[in-house]
Amino acid sequence: MVRGLNDTHDPQRKSWVSSANSASSDFPLQNIPHGVFSAPGRPRRGGVAIGDMVLDLRAAIDSDLISGSVREVAEAAAAPSLNALLAMGNDAASALHRCLFDMLADDGATRHRLESLSNELLVPLNEATLYKPAAIGAFTDFMTSTYHASAARRARPARELSENFLHLPLGYNSRASSISVDGVPFARPFGQHRAASGEIVFAPTAQLDFEVEFGALVGQGNQLGSRVSLDDAEKHIFGYVLVNDWSARDIQLWEMRVGPFLGKSFCTSISPWIVTAEAMAPFRRAPYPRSANQPQPMPHLDSSTHRLNGALDVKLNAFISTSRMRAAGQTSTQIVQTNLLHTSWTLAQMLTHHTTNGCNLQPGDLLGSGTVSGPTEDSAACLLEITAGTLPIKLPNGEYRTWLEDGDELIIKGRAEREGFAAIGFGSCGARVLPPI
Ligand code: CA
Repeated sequence: MVRGLNDTHDPQRKSWVSSANSASSDFPLQNIPHGVFSAPGRPRRGGVAIGDMVLDLRAAIDSDLISGSVREVAEAAAAPSLNALLAMGNDAASALHRCLFDMLADDGATRHRLESLSNELLVPLNEATLYKPAAIGAFTDFMTSTYHASAARRARPARELSENFLHLPLGYNSRASSISVDGVPFARPFGQHRAASGEIVFAPTAQLDFEVEFGALVGQGNQLGSRVSLDDAEKHIFGYVLVNDWSARDIQLWEMRVGPFLGKSFCTSISPWIVTAEAMAPFRRAPYPRSANQPQPMPHLDSSTHRLNGALDVKLNAFISTSRMRAAGQTSTQIVQTNLLHTSWTLAQMLTHHTTNGCNLQPGDLLGSGTVSGPTEDSAACLLEITAGTLPIKLPNGEYRTWLEDGDELIIKGRAEREGFAAIGFGSCGARVLPPI
């Protein structure tokens, strides 16, 4: 069951918050993503993004703009961490979405009153500090792009896909505690690895990489011992964020016998705004097609509805900004452009697969799509594929990069677009690499 279209997806509707009406805004009236922020005089609390503003939900409640049964949902959305909101599930979230849509839409009648309250209600995004939107108790990362798994590009010969790759979404339990929100830097990690000399050393990684991913945040969980069917999976996905699964390739390569560990667990970045399942309804698509000679998903990972619209059409781009570029006043440069549709499994299939053994998911759990690499050179979504560790890319200012260097900033952006609908964005998922401690 996926959420249907309704008038909150009508592209003609505009907001009285004028910056939300710009076609380039990530946060038009049709998005209204949830996040957690603070600002001078406003301790940490929940809000929604609209144009270049944050709507302070505490202020909206205190101004009596939210009443009736949805008020309880709004209280959870105004809290300094959104797990209680996630636990309420998508029907509650849709009811609140409807209420906030009506509040933020320019319908003429209420505009004057709302504008007179705008100093209380709205905080400019550039004056707000953003936080991780929920406590993330568990982070599961998958590998679902055949292009990433076979890495058939550049100097590298195509690796054979493992036999199980198209039978099930391959995943592992990753680290939740080191997930950071956009803008939080991290130090280049130390670890054991084989140095270029061949010697095994304990030293800062020399092969720091990023992975452009897309994540689902679990809303309502499932009981331990129960399974979630594929057609019910969407009920358990509250919304979506951008994910960068930072990776130290030399550490990962040396330690990998039972899955990645210290090569991944030093940091994972996410974007601060949870784009709801409701807002993503117009951007549903048929999943990645499989050829007749490839294994088809088994019945528990397949359904007629899912075949029709189980996937999401999201453009994902990554940009790099180096210290030298910033010192020279140059803007970041794009090095990846890909689309979530390139993955061979959908987030709904990943969620269902996750519960097939009775494993319980909880509100705020994060499922990562895996590196979203596509078939073309520019859609390779990590340096391991782009440079293969041997063929550096040349940046516009003449610098070269094989792996990330100290001072580099890698920023992921995402946008969902479809003819006849308002495009919506995901904000920013970026971090700067600091020197090793
Ligand atoms: Ca990954």
